[in-house]
Amino acid sequence: MAERIAGPEIERLIQLLARLPGLGPRSARRAALHLIRKREELLGPLADAMRVARERIVTCSACGNIDTSDPCAVCNDPRRDPTMIVVVETVADLWALERVGAMRARYHVLGGTLSPLDGVGPKELNLDTLPARVVETGAKEVILAVNATVDGQTTAHYITDLLSHLDIKVTRLAHGVPVGGELDYLDEGTLSAALRQRTPF
Ligand SMILES: [Zn+2]
Repeated sequence: MAERIAGPEIERLIQLLARLPGLGPRSARRAALHLIRKREELLGPLADAMRVARERIVTCSACGNIDTSDPCAVCNDPRRDPTMIVVVETVADLWALERVGAMRARYHVLGGTLSPLDGVGPKELNLDTLPARVVETGAKEVILAVNATVDGQTTAHYITDLLSHLDIKVTRLAHGVPVGGELDYLDEGTLSAALRQRTPF
């Protein structure tokens, strides 16, 4: 067994940090040391911010975004174009599109993609409410901003069928989104161009 360097409280901090994406045991130890050294300026405010996040963050019942209010700030924003709904897989993709700022639209966050092999069917995703939401909001266009993966495209086809009885345009992001690519990793120019040059699905 490896010798324990620190007390159980510090070990626990390291173990929890090591569960964060992109942090292995070594970087978790470095992060823990950094936090402990900066107890007043960093560890305290971080702990407070985490407690507030845990207590106040909710999922928007309209679109599936996360925020401290329901409906979320995007759904509540009267300056958004009500004729467009952008369908994304995850909140990370919503954030990527908001960073670009190319769309002043509202979103619909699926919470993943259809993946029969992994047991993810329509019921596991935020799909049921989409047709009713399109009707209620008077949207004229649904933009499928899903990733260019096999599951992403399967999901896009499913949504197109789901909305086929409605008199709306269904479009998808244009080329520029590499096959197998994930929106969150695209540079802003590529993502903006893909949105502007979207094509009928
Ligand atoms: Zn919302």
